[in-house]
Amino acid sequence: MKDWFRRHHPPSFQAVGENNREIPDDLWTKCPGCGELLYQRELEVNDWVCTRCAHHFRLRAPQRLAQLTDDGSFEEHEAYLRPADPLQFVSATESYREKLEQARKKSKLSEAMVVGTARLNGCPLVIAVTDFRFMGGSMGAVYGEKLVRAVDLARERRLPVLTVSASGGARMHEGMFSLMQMAKTTAAFAQLGRERLPHISLLSDPCTGGVTASYATNADVIVAEPGALIGFAGPRVIEQTTRQKLPQGFQTAEFCLQHGMVDMVTPRRELRPVIGNLMQLLCGSVPVAS
Ligand SMILES: [Zn+2]
Repeated sequence: MKDWFRRHHPPSFQAVGENNREIPDDLWTKCPGCGELLYQRELEVNDWVCTRCAHHFRLRAPQRLAQLTDDGSFEEHEAYLRPADPLQFVSATESYREKLEQARKKSKLSEAMVVGTARLNGCPLVIAVTDFRFMGGSMGAVYGEKLVRAVDLARERRLPVLTVSASGGARMHEGMFSLMQMAKTTAAFAQLGRERLPHISLLSDPCTGGVTASYATNADVIVAEPGALIGFAGPRVIEQTTRQKLPQGFQTAEFCLQHGMVDMVTPRRELRPVIGNLMQLLCGSVPVAS
């Protein structure tokens, strides 16, 4: 377990920056929210939240797992599953296989989805986390398969499921095979619900496309991080299609809360106690801490 984190979590780990760009491994990081230069060590201590404007930087899957699970409790499952190339997809510049190889090298992960078992405030759970660095956290056939197997494991062991999503949606390189994952994951979570096991979904920046339109918003409680972009199509596409000016703050977590699409917007620092409490409440096995 410790080895897993060491392998995926280099000592001077960086957050994933805006516009899918990595923040340079410097001592100082410029906040995309307020433009302030922030000392990296301070950012790290503050869970990668800007100390000045509270901008939430994107987290890698290992960072998220470290933040939301009890120390040393995460055990990865289905790590051996790797994406295939069912369509032999080649774009104008490069093949899907080449893109996958680059994503593997960059993230040191085999897919955008990492699943496993862990504990949160002592309570066992199944956790599934997306890493946006791996092809924009896009959902392909193996992403969907890992998630469904995680749900099956939760049903077998009678555990709640926590999903953490940061995704651009379905992976176009796999065409219909990726779109099918929307139905497949939704069906798996519906079965989990029928067996009265809870699913808590945490939406982080950005959560869009087929992931928002399937399992990520198909949960007992939907929690979002402040300022996260949450939607299906991007605002520019919607404006062009509807020929209407969109309201201010459209598709932010706060806007979604006001319009009933998410249940709560919770700052990163409070996620652990809030999700831990929700798990205990929904599982009904442990008294809720005051
Ligand atoms: Zn800031």
